[in-house]
Amino acid sequence: MPSKDPLPFWRTKSLDDMSSSEWEQLCDGCGRCCLVKLEDEDTGDIYLTRLACGLLDLKTCRCRDYAARHEKMPDCISITPEKVRTLGWLPPTCGYRRVEEGKDLLWWHPLISGTPDTVHEAGISVRKLARTEVGIKPGWIPHYIIDDFVDDGVEAPPAPARKKRAGSKR
Ligand code: SF4
Ligand code: SF4
Repeated sequence: MPSKDPLPFWRTKSLDDMSSSEWEQLCDGCGRCCLVKLEDEDTGDIYLTRLACGLLDLKTCRCRDYAARHEKMPDCISITPEKVRTLGWLPPTCGYRRVEEGKDLLWWHPLISGTPDTVHEAGISVRKLARTEVGIKPGWIPHYIIDDFVDDGVEAPPAPARKKRAGSKR
């Protein structure tokens, strides 16, 4: 009897046990964690904005200088297993967060789909949402506050489009 395919690494390993290559692959490339956030100094509440870090490539939603990001953006936070457990603002779709919560990756994650395109097609990435923070005066940042992400309908892949001819005028 043929053996079943082994489970992929994110189903068998904890975040702490992953190799650096596995760790990097687990990031879906959504860019959501690269959006500027504001913290209420009195309450500690975090507000999400649609302004993206100046190093984020708004088309690919990837960092334009990942290797040197901490020199160029000192407030860039490295995501670590500990940070995944403690940062409340990591989006629920984040690959790290899902694995930490014992959930599988979803259809649009590049490790499932085999392509980085699906994270954009599913509307998970910030490609259509973000604009750069470059040139925005600090006092204007609150104008860019948005609601937290609502990800209804991203669990299942979209059904094939059902279309019929509606006639045409010649
Ligand atoms: S939110 Fe998570 S999956 Fe998305 S870019 Fe950030 S670390 Fe990667
Ligand atoms: S420096 Fe790069 S990884 Fe860090 S927040 Fe900016 S775009 Fe994201």
